[in-house]
Amino acid sequence: MQELIVNLHNHSNISSGTANYYEMAQAGLNAGIDVLIVTEHNILIHEKDQYYHRDGKNVLLLAGEEIKDPARPYENHILVLDTDLELASFASDPQAVIDAVRRSGGISILAHPFAKDNRWLKKKGAPWITWPATNFTGIEIYNLLDEFYSQSRGIFSLLGNASQPELFPMGANEESILKWDELLLSGKMVNAYAGSDGRQAPEEIGFRTFPILPYEFGFRCLNNHVFVPQQLSGDVDTDKRMIYQALKAGRFFIGLDLIHPSAGFSFKADGENQTVWPGGRMRFENSVTLKIRNPKEAICRLIHNGKVVRHWEKLRSLPVVVTEPGYYRVETYLPYRNKLRCWIYSNPIYLDKA
Ligand SMILES: [Zn+2]
Repeated sequence: MQELIVNLHNHSNISSGTANYYEMAQAGLNAGIDVLIVTEHNILIHEKDQYYHRDGKNVLLLAGEEIKDPARPYENHILVLDTDLELASFASDPQAVIDAVRRSGGISILAHPFAKDNRWLKKKGAPWITWPATNFTGIEIYNLLDEFYSQSRGIFSLLGNASQPELFPMGANEESILKWDELLLSGKMVNAYAGSDGRQAPEEIGFRTFPILPYEFGFRCLNNHVFVPQQLSGDVDTDKRMIYQALKAGRFFIGLDLIHPSAGFSFKADGENQTVWPGGRMRFENSVTLKIRNPKEAICRLIHNGKVVRHWEKLRSLPVVVTEPGYYRVETYLPYRNKLRCWIYSNPIYLDKA
């Protein structure tokens, strides 16, 4: 498998962002990501899918969409990828959007499901409120802009986080992780995604104007690391198909690359005659060997059916034999600037009772 760095959930100046696609792609090339996915509010722009090249580096820009109901703009945002459907007309019924995406073979992600308001910036969060929802591909457990809002409570923390954004990211939204485990425990296969919600929008804070979370910062900070069977070919349609297949299957992990590059992490299950990657399922007989590999020594937890079943203070790589069916996922932590931060979240491997 090859690993690609995919940055998801970005807005251009077409919707709430401040740069055009060419400028965003330049920021992507500077940051060294492989794929940049834009999701404009209620506008699907397919003809913009294209490679940008500079100095021997390439970034593939793909366009999805973020659906919201114009009549109720502060709830139920859905990121939609890999579909040609124009879904904005369904926007008043979020479950109808999700169902239409599933029928078309696309990907639907509940965006920032537990977003809160930030009264100091007069920002209203747009949480997911229509529970239970069903048939969606995954949830955005980590939204960088939402974390900025939730960690910036008061003028001084806003000033600090706007001027030094490298200080605030701590990890995914706790309520989103609880909801993810709850959904997984109920037997659903649900992928966890990370989104920048990149906009680089100027905000006036204490008589100064700051571009909040510059695009390049978001691309360097928080990514989805996707496992694909082949190297990118350079052909937009071929590569798009392969990337979306992996994103749909959950064959990726989330890395907070700001604190240390997470490329090189892996989590696999080895059975008698197959290897399963995150998002995959395997028939469980008596035992299965899980293999965890961290790019550097880190605190590491193995989670089985919502509970931490193994904890290592310093783990580089290890085979772990497990003897219970269910879902398994991995979280790793690193100290950064005197605080312990969550660095990596793998998607689950599902071991089905024989
Ligand atoms: Zn949104």
